Amino acid sequence: MALQRDFSTILIERDRIAQRVHELGHEIVRDLRMSGVNLDDPQAPASRVVIIAVMTGAIVFVADLIREMPVKLHIELVAVSSYPGTSVESKGVKMKTALPSDLADSHVLLIDDILDSGQTLQALIGLIQQQRPASLRTCVLLRKPGKAKIDVRADYVGFDIPDEFVVGYGLDYDGLYRNFPAIAVLRR
Ligand code: 5GP
Ligand code: MG
Repeated sequence: MALQRDFSTILIERDRIAQRVHELGHEIVRDLRMSGVNLDDPQAPASRVVIIAVMTGAIVFVADLIREMPVKLHIELVAVSSYPGTSVESKGVKMKTALPSDLADSHVLLIDDILDSGQTLQALIGLIQQQRPASLRTCVLLRKPGKAKIDVRADYVGFDIPDEFVVGYGLDYDGLYRNFPAIAVLRR
C-alpha cells in the first residue's frame, strides 16, 4: 500500500489485531453473562446493553468488535476531539456531540481507540456515571502504560504499546491513515 512509505514500523499486524479483537469480544460477552445480564432478552430487568463508541478513532475497532459479540445490543456514538489537526499532544477534551440521555439502568460499554493521558475516558466516565447506569465498563484497543496522568481504569485492553504516536485501524494523523488496516508508527 502506498501509505506504507509514511511509516517507520508496523507495530501490530492486522492478523494479530483480528485475533485479539475476537478474544476481547468473547471476554466481554462472558463477563456480561457472568454479572447476570440476560443477553437473550433486552427487556428483562437491567439487561439493556449499550455500546458507546468514541468517534472518530474507534470506528474501525468498534465495527470489528461488535461482530465478535453475537448478542442483542444497542450502539451509540459520541464525538470527542482531543488532538485537533496536526497536534500529537493532547489539548484537552472537547465534546462535539451529546451523550445519549437514556443510560440509566443500562449496561454501558465505553469504547475508545487508545488510552493515553486518560483525559478522554475520565471525562466520559464522569458524564456517564451521572446517569446511573447499571454498570459501566471501558474498553480500548491500545494503551500506553505509564502515560496516564490520572488514574483511569480500562477494563479491557487490546494491546499495551510503547509511547509512540501511532496511526491506522481508525487512528489518524491530521485526518489521514484511519483506513490503514494495521497499527503503524508514523515516520517523523
Ligand atoms: P487521552 O485523552 O487518553 O490522552 O487520549 C485519548 C485520545 O487521544 C484517543 O481517543 C486518540 O484519539 C488520541 N490519541 C492518543 N494517542 C494517540 C496516538 O498515538 N495516535 C493517534 N492517532 N491518536 C492518539
Ligand atoms: Mg479519540
